[in-house]
Amino acid sequence: MKKSYLIGIMATVAILSIYLLGQHHGRSDEGLAITKEAHAADVTKASPVKAIQERDMYYPGTEDLAPDEMRVTACGTGMPNARPKQAAACWLVELGNGDKFLFDIGTGSAERISALQIPYNYLNKVFIGHLHSDHFGDLDALYCGGIVANRVVPLEVWGPNSTEPKYGTKAAMDAFEKMLAWDIDTRMGNTDTRGAFLKVTEFDYAAVNKVIYQKNGVTIRTIPAIHIFDGPVSFILEWNGLKFAYSSDTFPNKWWLKHTKNVDISIHECFVSPESLVEKQGFTPQAALNVGTQIHTSPAQFGKVMAETKPRLAVAYHFFNDFDTAPAVLRDVRMTYDGPLALATDYMVFNITKDEIKVRMAAVEEAVWPQPSTIPLVPPDPKLQRVALSQKMIEGRVVHRDVLEDVYKHINEKFGSNEMVP
Ligand SMILES: [Zn+2]
Ligand SMILES: [Zn+2]
Repeated sequence: MKKSYLIGIMATVAILSIYLLGQHHGRSDEGLAITKEAHAADVTKASPVKAIQERDMYYPGTEDLAPDEMRVTACGTGMPNARPKQAAACWLVELGNGDKFLFDIGTGSAERISALQIPYNYLNKVFIGHLHSDHFGDLDALYCGGIVANRVVPLEVWGPNSTEPKYGTKAAMDAFEKMLAWDIDTRMGNTDTRGAFLKVTEFDYAAVNKVIYQKNGVTIRTIPAIHIFDGPVSFILEWNGLKFAYSSDTFPNKWWLKHTKNVDISIHECFVSPESLVEKQGFTPQAALNVGTQIHTSPAQFGKVMAETKPRLAVAYHFFNDFDTAPAVLRDVRMTYDGPLALATDYMVFNITKDEIKVRMAAVEEAVWPQPSTIPLVPPDPKLQRVALSQKMIEGRVVHRDVLEDVYKHINEKFGSNEMVP
């Protein structure tokens, strides 16, 4: 097995060398002739002056959703430490009826969300599976960034309680708002702050398949998840005959097995293999086995879960999906499951209808701006308490009035406003 693999690599290297050698010396030997022929055949498929008709990518903001279609976008598929390639857990569900829901909003995911170029008014519903930072660490970025980007509706957050109030979502959100006092108060009276409010719904983590959201034909239920301590949940969204299940973090459990059978898309954690934790992150074997198989679901366990629930598509996430880690994950999943499977990475996009599930990658532009608000902005509310600089700080200001007058004049002329330098 290993030997034939090696021979394959050597043959590829040899062919490539012949090709490169030919290129370099302008020679036409047999190897080069074959390569040239193959190249010519490719060129005739698409004219260099005409657009390719079918592009196998998702370009954000360019596709209508059909009325019966669900689009799921991976905005975070990695591990607790966000990295350039993968943010921590975050999934966006968009429905043909116009509704959008975020499930978890882990560290680094706000950047992925921004790449999708969705006006922030529509990104106002977040469902948090549990209160590990890799599942809600970017809530502040969405909350405050949304205000700056003209989200003029409150941010609504749903999350579980726990065995004590201090471990529940409500307590976390109370503390979160306190933490953001300076941020929020400095915006009051300076901009449209109708979106500077949190609306929190805490629900019973232990309830089984209980409805926590129902509106506009969408039903969201939760089941308990098993992950270190009481509190975590998994979500099941149902709309228009389509079912989306998202585990957040969980060890395989009986509720998932019972309530996610045959769902259309089953997104379940599949932790990086214990051997990768030892080899890449320096875990001891004991810690790797504990974290990778007891606190989380290992790839082979993930496969077991999917073999039993038989979704239309199984999606494995919560691992660093790289050239040198994915083979072990896939090998272990395939020991126990041979059905439809996607190994998720950030910007993977799933379009789901009753007839088809299309999996593509999004092509994103890094230099995007937030989309303008879809609701007309209003001037800052004069009734709002505006925080003011102290006399000491005011006296420290250096005002270049001549420069500012030029700026004001330029803006007034260009946009027809009539503002005066204060
Ligand atoms: Zn967790
Ligand atoms: Zn996690």
